[in-house]
Amino acid sequence: MEERKDEIPKRERWLRQLFNGSKSPNPYFYAALKEINRQGDEITPGSVFDEADSPTNICFVKCKELGFPGAAFLRQEPKKIIFLCEEYFDSRLRDGEYTNMTEIVTHEMIHWIDVNRGMDFSNKESLFCSEIRAALLSGQCQEFYNGTNTLLKTMLNHPIKCAKDRAIDSMSISGSKMCCPSDKLLQGCVQDIYPWTERPTSQQKAKEILVKQFQLTDQNGCIKHGHILTQDS
Ligand SMILES: [Zn+2]
Repeated sequence: MEERKDEIPKRERWLRQLFNGSKSPNPYFYAALKEINRQGDEITPGSVFDEADSPTNICFVKCKELGFPGAAFLRQEPKKIIFLCEEYFDSRLRDGEYTNMTEIVTHEMIHWIDVNRGMDFSNKESLFCSEIRAALLSGQCQEFYNGTNTLLKTMLNHPIKCAKDRAIDSMSISGSKMCCPSDKLLQGCVQDIYPWTERPTSQQKAKEILVKQFQLTDQNGCIKHGHILTQDS
């Protein structure tokens, strides 16, 4: 039989480029990755067929076969690993939705950071908080209107409602239903913006915060400010 040389699928190339820094990252992704590295972890793309003791810890998987209806999920056993749903990413990457797909990866990376912070996801309130943070600190729930018109602001900018809806959705997909979280709980979760120093409400704002943060904290000059200011392509 003739052996066919398999081409690397587009999703794999895209993921490798995201993590090897050859794509100019979006600021949400950049901040999450920097924090994970600071926590002592590296994220290395690999395959679902890699051995459990291999250093790879993010890969694509056929979620439909697993009966999982979402876009991505994080597992902590036997090691922390991010699974991205192949079918979901394939169709959207084909349509050029790179930013949305980067946001999904970043969302899982915020959960990763929270696991490292000791948040216990078997506790529904902790999981809810991590979901709120993952929605707000990944760019999935931003303020899309940046003008000064109050009416448009009220109509268009609902990041917290967006995060709450997403959190409840995510929890029901993962079989951990959460009904009616209290305002007190929600506010507490919204205020937990770690590792950010202020809540990034838009791409532009996120870039500004990062530049300010690095000017204050980056002493070794290994981060080029211009790099994170480049638009995500
Ligand atoms: Zn999530």
